[in-house]
Amino acid sequence: MELWFSEMQSKNVKMSYKIKNVLHSEKTKFQNLAVLDSEEFGRMLILDDVVQLTMKDEFIYHEMIAHVPLFTHGSPERVLVIGGGDGGTLHEILKHPVKEAHLVEIDEKVIEASKKFFPELSVAFDDPRAKIFCEDGIAYVKRFKNHYDVIIVDSTDPVGPAVGLFRKEFYKDIFDALTEKGVFVAQTESPFYYEGLLKEVYNCIAEIFPYAAVYTAVVPTYPGALWTFIMGSKQVDPNKANVPESCDFKTRYYTPDIHKACFKIPAFIKEILSK
Ligand code: SAM
Repeated sequence: MELWFSEMQSKNVKMSYKIKNVLHSEKTKFQNLAVLDSEEFGRMLILDDVVQLTMKDEFIYHEMIAHVPLFTHGSPERVLVIGGGDGGTLHEILKHPVKEAHLVEIDEKVIEASKKFFPELSVAFDDPRAKIFCEDGIAYVKRFKNHYDVIIVDSTDPVGPAVGLFRKEFYKDIFDALTEKGVFVAQTESPFYYEGLLKEVYNCIAEIFPYAAVYTAVVPTYPGALWTFIMGSKQVDPNKANVPESCDFKTRYYTPDIHKACFKIPAFIKEILSK
């Protein structure tokens, strides 16, 4: 008998994956967590029936959420990830010569599952520059002023404990927690299915930060494939950042040319932002 996992990508759209094995399944304090082994995409992390990452395409999302803000800043020493308990974003950050990389994940079970099933990503937790905190990122960030050079919000969709990660009050706390040249990035979902959210978050960031910019990447297993990120920057104009000519580590999606190009957004997204 064939085993399939289906994600409701919207109320009316389903994406299905042929599954070889269910490797793990549990109900944590915060969400349902599963690790599946799929035919096409390899191991997959699923939270509340939503695909968080697959081993075949995780590099696209993780490289783009990490390298774009870090190279935009230029010389980050202290970086914070909120969410991201799989370790993928942290793993990319640690390819830069940062002094400290902190991660605040609300659900320790995500970290445990990653250590067991995604060793290629969770290897980041063992880096001496990494520090992991298991608590709500919303409360965590309130305790810091002028502290982090880059803050990355690598969250689940805006439901459950992640709702507050898409609110203006949280973005204000992030602004305060950043140093004077600070750069902030959040994943902001699909422009097809989350049009309203994209516009709302963009407007908040544009009100709080001197510079706000949307960038995109194509992630095959995320709803709609075309994915958005919003950057808020205190000093560096994201469109004029001094992006290095080349990377001194290996990447599979990110390149300096992609960095410059990713801020060139399609007309329909510009339309959403200007409505
Ligand atoms: N790349 C993924 C995506 O876009 O689907 C997100 C991956 S990562 C697994 C998201 C993490 O955010 C989850 O492990 C979840 O537990 C965590 N999270 C949700 N709300 C949070 C909060 N308020 N504070 C800290 N972490 C939170």
